[in-house]
Amino acid sequence: MEFYWSWVQGHLLTIFSVSVTSILIYHYLMERGTGLRLSKRYRGSIFEAQSKIFLNASQYLISGNKDLAIREFLNAVDLNRETLETYFALGELFRSNGEIEKAISIHRSLIAKETVKESMRLRALKELAKDFDKGGFVDKAIETYQDVLKINRDQEEVVLSLCKIYEDLEDWEQAYNYRITLSKIGRKSQSETISHILVQKAKSYFEKGDVIKCDEDLEEAFRHAPSVSAKILRLKLYLTRGQVDLAKSLLFELLQENPVYASFIFVSLEEGFKGKSFEKNHYQECMNLLREFFLKIKDKDLAPSPSIILSKVRFFKEKNQLGNAYRVLKDSLKNNENNSQVMKIEYIKLLMSLGKYDEFTEEATNFLEGLEQSLTRHYCKLCGYNSDDIFWRCPQCHEWETIQFRWKI
Ligand SMILES: [Zn+2]
Repeated sequence: MEFYWSWVQGHLLTIFSVSVTSILIYHYLMERGTGLRLSKRYRGSIFEAQSKIFLNASQYLISGNKDLAIREFLNAVDLNRETLETYFALGELFRSNGEIEKAISIHRSLIAKETVKESMRLRALKELAKDFDKGGFVDKAIETYQDVLKINRDQEEVVLSLCKIYEDLEDWEQAYNYRITLSKIGRKSQSETISHILVQKAKSYFEKGDVIKCDEDLEEAFRHAPSVSAKILRLKLYLTRGQVDLAKSLLFELLQENPVYASFIFVSLEEGFKGKSFEKNHYQECMNLLREFFLKIKDKDLAPSPSIILSKVRFFKEKNQLGNAYRVLKDSLKNNENNSQVMKIEYIKLLMSLGKYDEFTEEATNFLEGLEQSLTRHYCKLCGYNSDDIFWRCPQCHEWETIQFRWKI
């Protein structure tokens, strides 16, 4: 199958020329006897012209000049309406094959043909926009998609493409506008996505130090959907304004809803604050108050999560309170069965720092033995498949002789 496809791709134009020529011969033979409007003589000359074009094109193909071959094929568009679908198919194949310029020249010439119907011209314009999009010609893609919308506004697929382009560009203003359009013409709810976009928009205002506009967009985001990202940004705003009590209760609410996000929340709160330096100091002071509050939350008040424990350990270590870090980790490792390897590694490192060498030796030995038991004797170097059995053909990726040995005793 794979071979077949690569052969088809390599001989795309040849296949195309052979099939179009056969269609032409078929039409010529079928219509030869039915003397409708055109005289036999005229039909004959059309067929002659087409044959000549395809003959030329085939010659260009043989000599390896694909561009001239395409131009020759395109000359035939006027002559036969039935070939339109074939051209669309060819354009799409070129695009999916990464031969963007050829796809563009096909669609452009379809748009330029005077004899093409309006609906077909619109379709070609849409295809052209997709070519630009795929080829990374962002400005041209935007312009062309917008041209399509000028002709017909209710095109969900086109609006979605514009949404994606503006999201890639991080132009949140436009991304928001097109999402709103999409929510009006499409059936699917866009509330969650709109909320995320508004948070991004608010975030960019926050980074510019424009707290008022940030707040406006954030409120709007909450109206669409209260996402975690919206709540984290609100927390940032509270800290910026020195509203520590509000920040404390919001943090507690967030941790109760999503304990696994704990470390992520704190990393987000700490990441690059771009305000003025005295504001930054004030922010940091409020942040420290929030951290103290967090360290004092009792474990029983929140669902056990490595994320919460590891955040606490990090803060204690930063304050050089290794004893507290040790206590938090020890309690957690004792009370919970499914402890993460990261927590055990952190614990072993702490034991070493604190000079608790007996406990260190015991824990490190247990850890290493557990690690060794979890390793299999063999693995596949291609896909990472693990097994104690010998496999000459990997059961997961089906390649031969990819087995590697871990030299386990
Ligand atoms: Zn494999």
